Amino acid sequence: MEKNIAVIKGDGIGPEIVTEAMKVLDKVAVKFGHKFNYEQLLMGGCSIDANGVPLTDETIERCKASDAVLMGSIGGNTTTSPWYKLPADKRPEAGLLGLRKALGLFANLRPCVLYKQLSEACPLKKEIADKGFDMLIMRELTGGLYFGERKTEPVNGVMTAIDTLKYDENEIRRIAKKAFDVAMQRRKKVTSVDKANVLDSSRLWRKVVDEVSKEYPEVTLEHMLVDNSAMQLVKDPAQFDVMVTENMFGDILSDEASMITGSIGMLASASMNETSFGLYEPSGGSAPDIAGQNKANPIATILSAAMMLRYSFKMDKEADAVENAVNRTLEDGYRTGDIMSEGMTLVSCSEMGDKIAERI
Ligand code: NAD
Repeated sequence: MEKNIAVIKGDGIGPEIVTEAMKVLDKVAVKFGHKFNYEQLLMGGCSIDANGVPLTDETIERCKASDAVLMGSIGGNTTTSPWYKLPADKRPEAGLLGLRKALGLFANLRPCVLYKQLSEACPLKKEIADKGFDMLIMRELTGGLYFGERKTEPVNGVMTAIDTLKYDENEIRRIAKKAFDVAMQRRKKVTSVDKANVLDSSRLWRKVVDEVSKEYPEVTLEHMLVDNSAMQLVKDPAQFDVMVTENMFGDILSDEASMITGSIGMLASASMNETSFGLYEPSGGSAPDIAGQNKANPIATILSAAMMLRYSFKMDKEADAVENAVNRTLEDGYRTGDIMSEGMTLVSCSEMGDKIAERI
């Protein structure tokens, strides 16, 4: 198969970690007989330096013309970088928000996996960590409380703030479908998280998710209240496969789930629209403190590339090969600085990429 990948290396450690992901993709192409064409584009701080703006129409158009976007990270040191003297809508992060919006990316997918080789970094009790976990949190990205009407004004002489949590059935249906589609490529279980005992938006959420579930008889659906979900994530994370939820609940639960994996350098993510198109990027930032030193952990970006293979290109075997190669590299004791522990072998960012590519 031939695929066109838009590549945004970005700022800070972005170019280092994306180069390693491309190294691994190139090995996948050779091994499985595919052709990946890359087009490098600017976005974020590097685009401000080159074009005066964090995101150009050209970058948007080229991304739209591609089959998927692979991204590093953008931004710099928020206290010392001149990019942060600019007005908010001209800063690097405005480029990312603008790109997500232009591409209609409404579903954020964040896998949270506890690698048994790294289970010491997990802050949970040993008996819970020993069971391991492998879940994916799907968060609705473009609706709900963060995008509803809001105002602050005096009501009967008392200053009052109002935020609005609004979802329509179409917004719920498209994210529910995405969650069931992803579950079909995983362990076929969906946990839909809401607050249906209190909120109308959650009651509609639950009704629409139930309707969509009828189209996916192979997938087991359960509903869970958000407060219980927050507890279950630390009590028994192994019970979850795909967890789908609205924007604010997802914002909080995905950070909670990330924390229990213990390492930011391992966290992949994807943002998708209704089609198989997606933008794939590590969850971490541009890590200006270690940029340019060949020290960053490229695994989150390599695992994001594996998600691209699985969800945008429907290349399950190839995605498995990348994930297995990451596992074997960890098993063989190779670690970048952020996940280093006693008795392991410290490697640089590029050496980690080499070790993983060798194991494809
Ligand atoms: P950060 O995630 O960049 O760094 C936090 C800590 O984690 C640092 O100590 C860093 O060295 C470490 N770290 C992060 N990724 C790592 C990796 N792959 N390997 C090893 N260590 C890693 O967060 P921050 O310092 O708060 O933000 C730095 C910049 O990144 C800011 O400009 C911020 O706005 C931007 N940012 C961008 C994105 C994105 O591109 N999607 C996301 C978050 C933050």
